[in-house]
Amino acid sequence: MRYLYGPVASWRLGRSLGVDILSTAEKTCSFECVYCQLGRTVTKTTDRRVFVPTDAIERELQALAPVIEETADVITFAGMGEPTLGANLGEVVDAIRRHTRKPIAILTNAALMTDKTVREELKKLDVVIAKLDAPDQAMFEAVNRPVSAEIKLDEIIAGLKEFRREYRGRLCLQLMFVVANRASGAELARSAAELQPDEVQLNTPLRRPCGVKPLPGEEMKQIEKQFEQLKPEIEVISVYERMKLDVWAIDKGAVIRRRGAGD
Ligand code: SF4
Repeated sequence: MRYLYGPVASWRLGRSLGVDILSTAEKTCSFECVYCQLGRTVTKTTDRRVFVPTDAIERELQALAPVIEETADVITFAGMGEPTLGANLGEVVDAIRRHTRKPIAILTNAALMTDKTVREELKKLDVVIAKLDAPDQAMFEAVNRPVSAEIKLDEIIAGLKEFRREYRGRLCLQLMFVVANRASGAELARSAAELQPDEVQLNTPLRRPCGVKPLPGEEMKQIEKQFEQLKPEIEVISVYERMKLDVWAIDKGAVIRRRGAGD
């Protein structure tokens, strides 16, 4: 498997078959998050391009289609960096739909929510999980370490608001808490209230190796209380409360390259 990996146990999505439309040897991203499990960002970019031709991904999907039907609950764009950097994202979504009726999700850092073309492509997905770890530019730069000074949190938030207005699928916000932003819960809860996602996912980096310590369960419970007022219109879930599924990967090596061996 060159472009697909898993299925992996996702605490948010169930048995998730990964699609890596970058499939670069090392990480390609517009951020360098302090907690990233993929290590340093080797290719720092905000420019979109085709990394893997759509037909190559489609051939792999076609070959695995019967196994996918049996073993996966969802097909998820993720992998060796930020998947919206793949300029053929929309095309690959169309290719996946030719081979399966499983729902399609994406994990995105949301940096390109500012781009109307990207928002249009994201509208084709059933579930969009967008990252929001910081309430202001200073914290954004400390936690997510954008690779260009031109990446502005307020513009990303404006793009997310626009996307929320346009998108009929399930929009989830993923908030990763680490030591640096542990005191930002209340402000992030206000941002989430403005963005009106369907779901808020409170996370801390439990998966190894990532270079920073996760916050303990008790502290995550306190943070979760700051999001109470969003319920019940917005579902709020927390990583410590979700059971890990028993999932069999088709190709374990392909998973370890993208998620590390410690999960
Ligand atoms: S956005 Fe994702 S892939 Fe990029 S550095 Fe952050 S955690 Fe890693």
